[in-house]
Amino acid sequence: MPLRCASGEGEELSFEHDADSWAALRARNSRERHLKFTCCDAGVVLKTSSLGTRYFAHQARGGCDTAPETQEHLQAKTIICKALKEAGWLATPEHRMTDSDGVCIADVLGKRASEALKGIAFEVQWSPQVAEITKARTDRYAEHGLRSLWFMKRPMPLNSKDVPVARLVSTDTDDGFDVYIPNEALVRGAEHMSSRELSDLEASWRRCGTLYQFVRGVVEGRFRFGLASDFDVRVTVGGVANWCYSCGAEVQPATWIVLDLGHLNPDFPNILVEIHELGEVEGSLAERILESINTRLPNVGGYRLGQRKPKESQATYLANVCRCGAFLSRSYLPYPSDKDRVLLAFDLKTKAEEVAPFYKVRDRWCFIDEVNPPSKSMLGVHGFGVPTIILTRLQAFSPSADGPLGKVRHVGYAGVDAE
Ligand SMILES: [Zn+2]
Ligand SMILES: [Zn+2]
Repeated sequence: MPLRCASGEGEELSFEHDADSWAALRARNSRERHLKFTCCDAGVVLKTSSLGTRYFAHQARGGCDTAPETQEHLQAKTIICKALKEAGWLATPEHRMTDSDGVCIADVLGKRASEALKGIAFEVQWSPQVAEITKARTDRYAEHGLRSLWFMKRPMPLNSKDVPVARLVSTDTDDGFDVYIPNEALVRGAEHMSSRELSDLEASWRRCGTLYQFVRGVVEGRFRFGLASDFDVRVTVGGVANWCYSCGAEVQPATWIVLDLGHLNPDFPNILVEIHELGEVEGSLAERILESINTRLPNVGGYRLGQRKPKESQATYLANVCRCGAFLSRSYLPYPSDKDRVLLAFDLKTKAEEVAPFYKVRDRWCFIDEVNPPSKSMLGVHGFGVPTIILTRLQAFSPSADGPLGKVRHVGYAGVDAE
């Protein structure tokens, strides 16, 4: 039981010691032999690993069922225990549970209070473990009233509500480890990736801080599955400068919008919606966005949005309509370019169901960290990918890039459909 052992006065937890108290405990134990393991009768010796972790070791290992641990495993457990303790939680390393299958040991049991019926089993998996075993162990802990949280060295691109798995990466700092979770590319495409792509931290994973910071986030409820039930969606409306072909007014048609699902949903992508697509999306959120744009856009861009049917077309679509009544055909709307600017940005309160018509949500684990939010990826309506060149241009448009209107005249870009 390397981070924990028993003494006549109760239990000793190695992570609660500093260098001085550790030395004192070692001296007393060599005089009195007062420390015992609960797994077997082996003598207890106090050690410090090459990574600086203090732990209790078996003096002789004979007939004990506890497996030897790597230095990294000991260090990770110690960090988890310290983070729990400093968050006011109770941390029990090597928590033994007995059931009809025998004894199982959770690496660290975290509980909000000693009388709490439920808790979290924090598991550090430094050696490879097949998914079936992970699932079986998770189910077994669940029968003991525990949720599980797995920290694995191997990249395990599992997107499961029941079996949360994060990736643990050693760092050369005192922090010991960083924690990563699958990013959008991995959540959507794991089955098509090579093992090299799967393990590529930069391309496929999202860093959630150090192990210590991550565990603090977990106990604060900031590691969560799926979309928040209620949240603010930030709507950014982009457009270009133009002239109405009919009345000559200086106008700014809206050409695209981006929905950002906000800081409560940090690991969900932004959604890029072209203006005519907005008219095709059903539901109350699309209606409210359109309403909000139409209360603001006439002042900013001289246009409002309305359903129009071009002469040679069967179908109507959402188009920019000038005060004079002329409308801008969608075939003249350019893709986002370096001439685009942000016309509007506003927030709307929404909920998960309202977002559904825009984008088939693929639920995933999110880590909410307002101080270090991840950079968001972008998808088109219905989950289609956005071409890289457009993506690069859009990323330049944060609402802060909203400068004064430049006088951009598009030579040869005045063509619009007549009504
Ligand atoms: Zn033992
Ligand atoms: Zn006009």
